[in-house]
Amino acid sequence: MHIVHSISDLRAVLGPLGRPAFVPTMGNLHDGHIALMHRAVQLGEVPVASIFVNRLQFLPHEDFDSYPRTWDADCERLAAAGCQVLFAPREHDLYPEPQTFKVQPDPQLADLLEGEFRPGFFTGVCTVVMKLFSAVFAGTPGGTAIFGQKDYQQLMVVRRMVQQFALPIEVVAAPTERAADGLALSSRNGYLSELERLEAVQLSRALRALGEAVRAAGDALPAEREALEQAARVRLDARGWQTDYMSVRRRSDLLAPQAGEPMVVLGAARLGATRLIDNLEI
Ligand code: AMP
Repeated sequence: MHIVHSISDLRAVLGPLGRPAFVPTMGNLHDGHIALMHRAVQLGEVPVASIFVNRLQFLPHEDFDSYPRTWDADCERLAAAGCQVLFAPREHDLYPEPQTFKVQPDPQLADLLEGEFRPGFFTGVCTVVMKLFSAVFAGTPGGTAIFGQKDYQQLMVVRRMVQQFALPIEVVAAPTERAADGLALSSRNGYLSELERLEAVQLSRALRALGEAVRAAGDALPAEREALEQAARVRLDARGWQTDYMSVRRRSDLLAPQAGEPMVVLGAARLGATRLIDNLEI
């Protein structure tokens, strides 16, 4: 596995190799990230990963400084999974000067759900993903980028960005990897105490229960939706969570669904100091 830090070294390594299959990450890799890497390997393109904790997508009170950094273990896992090139820019490699040009996502998609509770988050995500795409794909014939459905809204925002800017990149979605009890794998699970870890599965259970209630509502969904969402929030909060949202949306644009449309339930809630997100297509 080639490990490169600067954009110029990355391009020099990738130039002769062909189409990249690219997995961007913030490191502290778990089986969810590795499943994305396996997907990249299966595509028969050049498996490339990046590790970069992107300051731009964290709010001042969030966990940028304490975000887990596990460099040696990450390198071992990526190499074992078949990663051919690891791009690990230092902050000055990606942001040699303050990043005053930003990618502003469509507010109709980016200002709701995660964007409502983390203002500016998707601007930070789009800006770094655009920059990573520029670093990886310029000088190649185009390629593939693999994103997890765990971050459902992020995947939709990135897809639209790629489409609107006509980037020569195919975005592939990979399903959410879960622990045996159903908790979606996440780097932030490492913040949980033992007791919190036992409780954490309740987020995915609450989403499943909300999904079942939505199905049971049938044609009455538009009238009952808000009450069902509210009930799901109240149940989690009663267990000691602080719920940001529990919501059923249509898959096409994350707006309120009509009965019968393909839907997804999405949730975000804090357990102690740890904020977790999850979703389930129904
Ligand atoms: P992160 O390091 O959290 O920025 O995530 C990097 C990529 O891994 C993103 O595309 C995530 O959606 C994806 N990812 C994170 N957790 C999971 C999971 N449990 N299953 C599948 N993909 C995941």
